[in-house]
Amino acid sequence: MPARILSGLAVRDQIYAELRRELDELLQAGHQPGLAAVLVGEHPASRLYVRNKMAACQQLGILSELHELPADTSTAALLELVGELNARDEIDGILVQLPLPPQIETGRILEAIDPAKDVDGFHPLNLGRLLEGRPELVACTPAGVMELLRRYHISVAGLHAVVVGRSTIVGKPMALLLLQANATVTVCHSKTRDLAAITRQADLVVVAAGRAALLGPDDIQPGAVVVDVGINTITDAEQAALLFARYPQRLEEFRARGRALVGDVHPDVAEVAGALTPVPGGVGPLTVAMLMVNTVRAARRRRLGSLHPVGSRS
Ligand code: NDP
Repeated sequence: MPARILSGLAVRDQIYAELRRELDELLQAGHQPGLAAVLVGEHPASRLYVRNKMAACQQLGILSELHELPADTSTAALLELVGELNARDEIDGILVQLPLPPQIETGRILEAIDPAKDVDGFHPLNLGRLLEGRPELVACTPAGVMELLRRYHISVAGLHAVVVGRSTIVGKPMALLLLQANATVTVCHSKTRDLAAITRQADLVVVAAGRAALLGPDDIQPGAVVVDVGINTITDAEQAALLFARYPQRLEEFRARGRALVGDVHPDVAEVAGALTPVPGGVGPLTVAMLMVNTVRAARRRRLGSLHPVGSRS
């Protein structure tokens, strides 16, 4: 039986419906949450991601502003902008789109963001809180994965969860969230020996490696839940033919466009897994949705001194 498809779009719509109610309350109390995004240089994917985030703000009625800086911006100049945004009361969330150009010291920038406005959850203080098991602002992609699992009533307690990838943005916070939810967690990375032997033991696999079709159907335990975080653009016709052999419509789309977005799992994993997130339409929309949640949460905390996590109210 083909896997149940876990739609990030459907969950995003639920989250937005709930957020709208929270936003109405905030607006009625005279508080419009504000998000400032900073984009440095010309990185086409980053530009697209930031555009999606700004569009979501507009859709929900969150004040948004975009600061675009040239590719040769210095660490000092970016620190100055972050300092200004920290000081502005109407800005509740600051997002510095990564990756930054090589001359910029990314760690110093992330550390300079006021932790109360750190809606990406990358500040060491927020990462430390997550490590301690009392998270406040959590990285959007792993938080989105937890939200997706929760809303599809997939309880991770007691499951063997395998996370592939150990970045600070996705893999590590993902592992911590799963651990906190009482999964037994294994973290794999590029130096892991015999990756497939480990993923085959997993009840839940979260893949965030950035390698197209890294895991195939033979690497997954039948019935396992598979969350595919990867976003990869393929342009090679032979690779597309292999990946989409069972999906003539996707192959047609590839031929028409000359490229396709694929995840880190082979599409045929759908024949083996019990549940699977699609790419596109899986984790991606939830990353943006959780950024909106974090912005509203930060606004509530800063302005009213209270947190109302989405989904925690009846
Ligand atoms: P990074 O490149 O920072 O990290 C990739 C991780 O995967 C590293 O830990 C790396 O190991 C590991 N890895 C790479 N190749 C292999 C391999 N062959 N076997 C096992 N592990 C491997 O990427 P990110 O964490 O930032 O992103 C991962 C993917 O998720 C990307 O495709 C990105 O586009 C996507 N993404 C999607 C989002 C969404 O909204 N859906 C949001 C953020 C990211 P090592 O540490 O040893 O190098």
